[in-house]
Amino acid sequence: MPVKVYLGLGSNLNSPARQIKAALKAITKLQGTQLVKCAPWYQSIAIGPGSQPPYINTVVEIDTVLKPRILLNALQRIETQQGRKRIVRWGPRTLDIDILLYANQTLKTRQLEVPHPRISARNFVLYPLADIAPKIRLPDGTALARLLANSSPEGIVRLDAGGSGGRTG
Ligand code: AMP
Repeated sequence: MPVKVYLGLGSNLNSPARQIKAALKAITKLQGTQLVKCAPWYQSIAIGPGSQPPYINTVVEIDTVLKPRILLNALQRIETQQGRKRIVRWGPRTLDIDILLYANQTLKTRQLEVPHPRISARNFVLYPLADIAPKIRLPDGTALARLLANSSPEGIVRLDAGGSGGRTG
């Protein structure tokens, strides 16, 4: 049976809008996986070392039959195919895909932590997630709306519909 999963996508190198579009296309091609919703795109100021270009971020809802580890591996392959190099932690990247929520499961292994541990601290995740799943709760019962109420939109700007409205990165 497919389960509902939310993914966070971000890019701040090599034409970020193009990277996000390519990632969406690759996600739709994953085995047993359907892209159900894509949130509006946001531009966000980079957090991390040095001066970095801004990010484009979005969140998607997928239905998938892939188990968490298999899904993570598949998403990491997409990151690698799009030229992601893991050099500096929180350094600039062509593509980052995080598993934010996997059904209502809580997982904590060395490779994978779900819900993603930094959901509540990242407005560029909370805002697009709320755009497509305003009523959702984390597995521990915390309402997304409550996290959002404690989060400021500082540093993020919502782009035009689907982010693709004229922006090519
Ligand atoms: P990052 O540099 O942010 O892409 O972090 C990548 C590392 O985070 C990978 O080695 C993953 O194994 C690990 N990781 C842990 N939890 C998650 C998650 N929920 N989604 C994606 N990567 C995760």
